[in-house]
Amino acid sequence: MTPARSTAITNALVYCCDDAFTTINPGTVVFRDGVITDVGGTSTVEIPGDAELIDGRGRLAVLPGLIDVHSHSSLLKGFSENAQLMDWLPQYQREHQVLTEDDAYHACLVSYMEALKGGTTTVTDMYRYLHRAAEVASQLGLRVHLVPYAADHPTKLFFETIDTNEQLIRDHHNTQGGRIKVWLGLEHITYCSEQMFERVRELSQQYGVSIHTHTSEQKEEVDAVVELFGARPVEVFAQRGILQRGSLLAHCVWLNDSEIELLAATGTGVAHCPTSNMKLAGGAAPLPAFAAAGLNVGLGSDGAISNNSLSMWETMKFASLLQKVSRYDATALRAEAALRMATIDGARTLGVDDHVGSIEVGKDADLITIDLWQPHLLPITQSEGHDPVLWNLVFAARASDVNNVWVQGHHRVSDSRLTGIDEVAALNEIHARTQSLLKRREATTSVAMLP
Ligand SMILES: [Zn+2]
Repeated sequence: MTPARSTAITNALVYCCDDAFTTINPGTVVFRDGVITDVGGTSTVEIPGDAELIDGRGRLAVLPGLIDVHSHSSLLKGFSENAQLMDWLPQYQREHQVLTEDDAYHACLVSYMEALKGGTTTVTDMYRYLHRAAEVASQLGLRVHLVPYAADHPTKLFFETIDTNEQLIRDHHNTQGGRIKVWLGLEHITYCSEQMFERVRELSQQYGVSIHTHTSEQKEEVDAVVELFGARPVEVFAQRGILQRGSLLAHCVWLNDSEIELLAATGTGVAHCPTSNMKLAGGAAPLPAFAAAGLNVGLGSDGAISNNSLSMWETMKFASLLQKVSRYDATALRAEAALRMATIDGARTLGVDDHVGSIEVGKDADLITIDLWQPHLLPITQSEGHDPVLWNLVFAARASDVNNVWVQGHHRVSDSRLTGIDEVAALNEIHARTQSLLKRREATTSVAMLP
């Protein structure tokens, strides 16, 4: 049930992440019935008489909830290590060869618990048995864009199918107050037939839902696609008609200029996953070229399996560092740009920027607070028109610094604890389930990436 009372967070450093990148200090944010009703200076905003008051005492930052535009739930982080994508994928897929519904439920549980506690209020989850993901998302109260790993190649039939994807749309799209959305998912281009692409395109029209896949993560992967199809991956997507406004492609590290133009011309967005791209030694996506072409770019963790962490704080920092080091340019991807990508730009890639991604009156109250009164986040001061707090949020803040999270006005993390679940009991269950999955995984052998 939506709380009837207003909530007001006062005396805080408010980062609105709106178009003008408004910051207010000391600022106040008021919300009621899940919607932001007032934002402004603490001395000017009128606080409703019935409001629950949270006094930041100059030591709290308020941000829009962070948005992870490409993730994969998993129970098994730390198991597929020291490998580039094409060697890594077959190892990762051993989990999928034996995955059950209950494994998937617990994978989503552990992943969404971590995400929400770290201030991520929207997760795009490409995974399986996603009706169970919907169950977890309802329980914890975060927003999810559920995207089945679907494939139809005879060697990859352990993945979801276009039919289970359609069923998921029918059962769960736009449920839970709109917090659960379902998209169409295509696993790797080499696992999905032309007929499957055609059906995905049809269903996208029929249900008005977007299409998500990943591509061009490693140079050798692109070479292999060119060899198989006689065209580069994004050219194949164009031929198969899935590039359109709302479609979202993860990674896009190895795109050439004409592929970037194809994305720009069709309004297709990019989910940039810097940590995973660094860890799997994929490369540095050409963000300046994306910006020049006017592409919508959000940030993704890519899930714990290729990152070991779902922290969007780390993702923001690494996004910036990766651009700086790969371009030998210390001015590349400033803190503001990284924070925009993790909030409003991410919302835009998901087509939900009309109601989330920034702190503005009339938008949903997806809000987080960060406790700044800690050694690694001082100083809290501004001078000469410079804001060190913004830089320190992007380069020094940790997921564990998030002490409150509201999603659509519901208080989902309070005093750094999840409100919707007994965390200790959940961890015990997750641990037991992981042992069981590992035993079954040990009995598998990997299937080569390329058919
Ligand atoms: Zn991925």
